Amino acid sequence: MLSRRELVRLELAAFALAATVILVMLVITLDAIRFHLPALEANAPGSFPLLLVLAVEAMIVAVLAASIARQAVRQRALRGRLPARRARVHDTEVFVLPTPRPLAFCLGLLRPRIYLSEGLLNELDASELLSVVAHERHHARRRDPLRAVLAKALAHALWFVPALKTAASAQATIAELAADQVAIRTAGAQPLAGALATFDRGGRPATAERAMQLAGRAPIRRSAEGVAVGTAVVLLALLLGAGWLLLPDPLAICLPLSTDPAASLAVLLLACLPAALLARSASRIDYG
Ligand SMILES: [Zn+2]
Repeated sequence: MLSRRELVRLELAAFALAATVILVMLVITLDAIRFHLPALEANAPGSFPLLLVLAVEAMIVAVLAASIARQAVRQRALRGRLPARRARVHDTEVFVLPTPRPLAFCLGLLRPRIYLSEGLLNELDASELLSVVAHERHHARRRDPLRAVLAKALAHALWFVPALKTAASAQATIAELAADQVAIRTAGAQPLAGALATFDRGGRPATAERAMQLAGRAPIRRSAEGVAVGTAVVLLALLLGAGWLLLPDPLAICLPLSTDPAASLAVLLLACLPAALLARSASRIDYG
């Protein structure tokens, strides 16, 4: 069974990787702005790679902002369109949708709301309903919709880091499994199984991972060597790029990092450690 610690470790590692890439790029940008402006202006031989890095950075920021904005607007619009009425179920504020289909989901980035359908309220018994409410309450408390939006936006913006895409999809899977664990602890395994069977009849079958966890079986362990290799290649490229820019020739710079090439390399390698941990973490995640 996956622990919540694994989810937290995955999220921390994914954000560490994104932060590493962004920080390395920031160092390069600051260096370019502070020391290479004349070179850039004079169209010197060294200006092209710098301009390229700056253009890539601008693109990353634009894609990140656009992705977050697009997803936030979509969620807001959907929330506005849903004809829901407020209700209290098992001491929890929920929004009830007037549809006979069995539905339950959590929507909203900063103040997530729990939506349940009338069909679900009619079909489930009290303990099954408690398990669904516990599951959705866990999503809401952790702000899982916001986490999913950020993970997706990072994967979009840093598309050249394949580990982030894997991390985003693994995060979605593990978030479901973690919410199911809370549901099982709150109401028991049988009520959750009953609730999942109802969703299944309503045309929304549970994923294989959730069914396996419910059956008490360990999810399939998938090797993710490709992710580790991809991450290593990206980090190597970043290191080489940063190292090249930090060379005194042809572009003289005064960053403390450049005064001692060995120290520079050591610092950059250290900076990439969290990302290296992600490669390990991602290859250890269990999902079917
Ligand atoms: Zn869920």
